[in-house]
Amino acid sequence: MVRRDIDGDNFIDAEELQQIQDRFCEANHLYCFCVTRPYEVLTKYYGSDAEVSEVEKYATSELCYNLSTRILISKVENVAEADEKLPDFVRIMAVGLRLSEQAIATWIVVGFLEDKITDKDLVSPDVMLTNEDDFYKSVQLLETLSKQYMKSKDDETYLKEAMKQSIIETEDAIEKYRRSTSLSRIISMLDSEKSFPEITYDILKEVGEYAGLCNASLLRLNKDQVTVERIAEWTSKEKYVLEIGTQYPKSDLPFFTGKPYTISYGALLPFEFKSYFEKYSIKAGAYLPIVVSDENAMYLAFTENEIDRNWSIDEIKFFNEAKRILQTITAKRVTKNSLASSYVALESVLENVGCGVRLVDVVNRKTLFANNTYQKMFEGIKLPVQFEESFFTPIPIRNVHDFPVGEKIFQTQQTDISWVDGTPARLITIYDVTKMREAQHAMEHEATHDFLTGMYNRRCLEEDLERELQNAISNNTEGALFYIDVDDFKEINDGLGHSFGDQLLKDIGHQLQKISATAENAYCMGGDEFALILTPQYMNLFEDVVMRIRDIFDRPWLLDNNEYFCTASIGVIRFPKDGSTVQHLLQRADIALYDAKLRGKNCMEFYTDNTENSSHKRIAIEHALKKAVRDGCKEFEVFYQPIINLYKEGEGPEQCCGAEALVRWNSERLGFIRPDQFVGMAEYLRLIIPIGNYVLEKACERCKFWNDMGHPDYKVNVNLSVIQLLQNDIVNIVRDTIERTGINPQNLTLEVTESLAINDIRRMKKVLSDLKRIGCRIALDDFGTGYSSLNHIRELPIDVIKIDRCFVIDCGKDEFSDSFVRLVTELAKSIKVNVCAEGVETELQLDMMKQNDVQMIQGYYFDKPMPATDFESKYVFG
Ligand code: C2E
Ligand code: CA
Ligand code: CA
Repeated sequence: MVRRDIDGDNFIDAEELQQIQDRFCEANHLYCFCVTRPYEVLTKYYGSDAEVSEVEKYATSELCYNLSTRILISKVENVAEADEKLPDFVRIMAVGLRLSEQAIATWIVVGFLEDKITDKDLVSPDVMLTNEDDFYKSVQLLETLSKQYMKSKDDETYLKEAMKQSIIETEDAIEKYRRSTSLSRIISMLDSEKSFPEITYDILKEVGEYAGLCNASLLRLNKDQVTVERIAEWTSKEKYVLEIGTQYPKSDLPFFTGKPYTISYGALLPFEFKSYFEKYSIKAGAYLPIVVSDENAMYLAFTENEIDRNWSIDEIKFFNEAKRILQTITAKRVTKNSLASSYVALESVLENVGCGVRLVDVVNRKTLFANNTYQKMFEGIKLPVQFEESFFTPIPIRNVHDFPVGEKIFQTQQTDISWVDGTPARLITIYDVTKMREAQHAMEHEATHDFLTGMYNRRCLEEDLERELQNAISNNTEGALFYIDVDDFKEINDGLGHSFGDQLLKDIGHQLQKISATAENAYCMGGDEFALILTPQYMNLFEDVVMRIRDIFDRPWLLDNNEYFCTASIGVIRFPKDGSTVQHLLQRADIALYDAKLRGKNCMEFYTDNTENSSHKRIAIEHALKKAVRDGCKEFEVFYQPIINLYKEGEGPEQCCGAEALVRWNSERLGFIRPDQFVGMAEYLRLIIPIGNYVLEKACERCKFWNDMGHPDYKVNVNLSVIQLLQNDIVNIVRDTIERTGINPQNLTLEVTESLAINDIRRMKKVLSDLKRIGCRIALDDFGTGYSSLNHIRELPIDVIKIDRCFVIDCGKDEFSDSFVRLVTELAKSIKVNVCAEGVETELQLDMMKQNDVQMIQGYYFDKPMPATDFESKYVFG
């Protein structure tokens, strides 16, 4: 098997693709081939050498290259049409095969449009023709198929084989079913009270529609033996009507010989047939003699005038079965006493209908006839009583029912008829629909389940929520919906690689499904979004569900033998309180979720009447923030909060040793906005990258200035967001800023948060080491609030630990805080790292820090963050 690696773990199987392609081309009368990125041919054209050389006359390699490149480099364009000068009857298009947005291969599709051909000589007779309408429809179909195909490639274990198989089996089962239903309708006409021409018309129509013909007619030889009359006719379109009653000289009808003819498109034909076909623009025809009392008196004529048609074996079989039934009916009407032959004819038809047939005498509970298929279907099986009884109900069961028998599922149709000898009988046709049901279930599963996690999908959620909402309204109860979104999933996914990202989503889904109160109502909304419905009956477990969700995201995930943390933001709504329609509820859940996101990560937000107001406010902030960044970050100002060194060698106690740079936003439209209110949003919108770069630049400039103005050891601390740190070019950006501003890298301290630093430890170690290599120092910010894992601290190349304000506030009052601070300072000493306490506001707090050997202090006790000029007049020039 030829396999080509395209994108890491994913691949396209060229052989498999070629097979799918060939089937597609054959069915749609097109030519196509597939190229990969970079331009390399993956599948070949389907067709003979003559056909291919005709195709390549128009689809030159240059044209194909240009057209496919358009798709391969574009994120949005998935279908492109060649705009080169081509004859109107040639269309060339490209269709992308995409794996998570990235086009990794392209189809080149070539069609010859019959309805656009003005000069027949220009088109080689070798090529397959289609028409304009069908061509564009086929291209659309190819796009859909490709999407499905790529989706199946995305997850190796899922669907791959099943999908191909189920398509074939469904087609097969549906085809069989269609044919059998059609035939049993024809069989039931045996009993019809209608006139002979009417019955004949019904049969012609049934055959014509089943086989998709243009014209189906019955022709009869007149008594004069030289003329023929068209006595019944069905056509698919008005234009194929040849008129009932038309008389033809028998000699004009080449098939009127007593022999059957089944002529496919392009077959070698004797002269008479050729001119007959040309005269009536027939592309393919089937002509079957009907023998009544040994005279070949009639012909069934089926024609195809539109498409280049090859009769399939099944179709020919079907025509013959229809013919036999018509023959039986004719015989029954013509000669009332030739029953024997009718029996034989009928039985042989029933033997071949492709479904089980059983004929019963309801009154005497006797089986009159059962065909081979029926006998094989139930060989050695005792039919369930209910199933057997259903055949003998006083009136035939009209509706089609599914009957499970053992592992299989059967469907029956019943009609009361009179058997050829006039006995009342019930005709029961039985289909084995097991395969079809299985295929249907697979399709339903696909339609209602998320592809990756196997959880119910959004469509299901909408249905279930609707039901629960109506329940809650009518019973006057309350339910809730949790809308969960994994934080920074894009970063995790980019950092870990897609297969681990997928694994993470599967694990999260799996854990969410374990929450018992919502186990039946857990959904994956696609991507990294999940939802849980807490139905009114379990509403007493609300707090429990909240705890369980928090627990899930408090623990690390084990991926590739490493521990990873990931948090989630959650929006919660209650119904019917928060909305009277599903749409309304989902909208509000979304607002609550968005609110949670923007508050910073790892938050759960309940929808309240204020949420929507605050959400409007947030949207206003979002717009202003985007504009501020677009305008070059001029609205942002960097404030500086002094950091005090308690014991600076040689200089005595309590000296400033630098400052933390803290951003301030003075929005022209919205006024002054605190970092708490926009940093989270800026991270969510990824605007923190340009804003952070701006702060870094300004802070380095200032610090260089302080160093030049008599304080060569002053350091500046700059906060680096998770988002910034995970950018591949972060090290280059810092290096460039250092070079541009001329700051001594030793005086630049980058603050990263603990939760982040612990997450994906290998990657973090690498980034931080690289930053240290260019000379910067690293501080671990907000220590104690995130995922405390003291072990990791030893592994990371850090210089300073910043103890979070919440431990400082409680120091002296709360034993845990006291011992935490002590523990940190001891640990810091042992690994030779400095400690800085944040948020020191009182003398008491300061004393406690001193007792615990904390070296550096930052807090309102000394000073609040202030503009650069204020800081400089007090700490640089003061
Ligand atoms: P942080 O990094 O923990 O910064 C310390 C915060 O504590 C600052 O709030 C500061 O004003 C405040 N603070 C300092 N001393 C005291 C005190 O004695 N009492 C009290 N109650 N608060 C004190 P600020 O400036 O509002 O910043 C809040 C957060 O916003 C920062 O927390 C940081 O996470 C983020 N932030 C600020 N500027 C930037 C920036 O330039 N880049 C990034 N990525 N984040 C920033
Ligand atoms: Ca900080
Ligand atoms: Ca902090």
